Amino acid sequence: MVYLDNNSTTKVDPLVFEAMEPFLRGDNFGNPSSIHTAGRIVRDAIEESRSKVSSLLNCSPSEIIFSSGGTESINSAISSFANTHGGNRVLISSVEHAAVDDFTTAKFDETAVVKVGVDENGQIDLDLLQNSLDENISLVSIIYAHNETGILSPVSEIVEICTPKGVLCHFDAVQAVGKIPINLSNLECDLISLSAHKFHGPKGAGALYIKDGLNWTPSQIGGGQERGKRAGTESVANILGLGKASELAALSLSENSKLLLSLRNRFEAKVTQEFESAVIVGSNVERLPNTSNICFDGYEAEALIPLLDQKGVCVSHGAACSSGSWGPPKALKEMAYADDLAKGSIRFSFSKFNSEKDIDLTIQALHESFTLLDSINN
Ligand code: PLP
Repeated sequence: MVYLDNNSTTKVDPLVFEAMEPFLRGDNFGNPSSIHTAGRIVRDAIEESRSKVSSLLNCSPSEIIFSSGGTESINSAISSFANTHGGNRVLISSVEHAAVDDFTTAKFDETAVVKVGVDENGQIDLDLLQNSLDENISLVSIIYAHNETGILSPVSEIVEICTPKGVLCHFDAVQAVGKIPINLSNLECDLISLSAHKFHGPKGAGALYIKDGLNWTPSQIGGGQERGKRAGTESVANILGLGKASELAALSLSENSKLLLSLRNRFEAKVTQEFESAVIVGSNVERLPNTSNICFDGYEAEALIPLLDQKGVCVSHGAACSSGSWGPPKALKEMAYADDLAKGSIRFSFSKFNSEKDIDLTIQALHESFTLLDSINN
């Protein structure tokens, strides 16, 4: 199998599994809130994981709380701050993941959610953002790196616009953390959501960075875990998996980035050389090194993806959570791609476990699929 769907989820690194295993079986089963030795061993391990996550982001361990994943981190950040600071509105972009978009739609009435669009390169309209920030907006929540296209948001500029106006800034960095450097001592945002399974950690594990000093209102209330910020007995093995994944990512961020970029460049060079129909999405702007979203003009992802799958190549059309929907991916619609072109969009997303051989096999599978589709259509 050639797995090129790493923005949906990644393979658990064997070293991550090794770090988790002793806390799933054996004697490390204590409740981290217990004051006896069995509890303290687990508590210490959790705190070590917190330090590893905070090192990856260059923030203080006290600014990290653990969660069940990206969705929970995002939902709780928005819930906590969308109604504070005197404002009662939240500003988001038109290309947010469902964890932001659908959540804000469900939670607030229509007038309380201000949406700012993106241009044809997927870049948020910063002038409109600036002009939309009035005293009613308490929180801005923007995707850091887009899950469908890999396009990066101008995060420093967004912070520079929000901070002087006293508006809090949350980034959904689920696709960015572990793939590109994020240094919170330089980026003065207030909240960052992340998810372990996007960088070789376990599913169902995430974290939220909450800048020290913010007045947090928890979504989960109960036993006072996570210093009262997120109640519920900790998912210990998952937290340790997230910690190990963070440690590994921090150790090899630049090396992995180079590898991913060279795989992506090789892939995109071959695709554009060999398939006239190929249009690379976001080729003029900064993108994640691992993501290549390509529209194959005149073809439909609905036909191509199952054929590639039959040949052992796993890719997707937009976000995994909207799998099964073959319409144009949301981001491409917002970037004003013609529906016909966007319907042929395929997201290829690489990881450190891919090789050049995977690229060559994918190119071959694309050739075979196009030949078959052409023979049916002609
Ligand atoms: N935000 C983005 C940009 C994502 O890509 C995803 C997952 O695909 C999420 C949020 C949700 O994260 P999780 O699957 O950990 O709940």
